[in-house]
Amino acid sequence: MSTSAADRTPARDRAPVAATDAAAQTDRVAGDGALAIPAIARDAAGELSLIASHCSSCGLHRYPPQAYCPNDQTATQTVPLSRHGRIYEAVQVHLAPAGFQAPYLIGYVDLPEGVRVFARLAAQPGYTPRNGDPVLLRFGTVRHDPSRIGPVFEVTQDSRATSAE
Ligand SMILES: [Zn+2]
Repeated sequence: MSTSAADRTPARDRAPVAATDAAAQTDRVAGDGALAIPAIARDAAGELSLIASHCSSCGLHRYPPQAYCPNDQTATQTVPLSRHGRIYEAVQVHLAPAGFQAPYLIGYVDLPEGVRVFARLAAQPGYTPRNGDPVLLRFGTVRHDPSRIGPVFEVTQDSRATSAE
């Protein structure tokens, strides 16, 4: 054999390369304001919310949040996003990646703050996604093995999707 097992290991299965201190130090001058800010947090009532950055200078909201506004480099503040949105685009996944259970809906949701969030959608069986359908943010299982909780926008317009909660 001319190749070792290591040579044939797909890149995604190799150990991740640690970010260097130098890279971390250059984050603040990288130009796009990208820093690791948690995109999910609990509000005062203990409810999970999606978090955006907000620029007090130009009013721009960004999700995921960024430390600096891409328009004017103003330092941003974090704000919780609205739970109510509308479907911009959605598809039903029938062939799931490992760890996920198909079929499931996924797509883009437009929120009143002007951000578009890519997330799992939930609806009753037989629901056909339509542009503009209203959705409400909840959090639930988005991956089954290993189990992961994440944002799920539940379709609220279709009467069959009415939640008992
Ligand atoms: Zn700005």
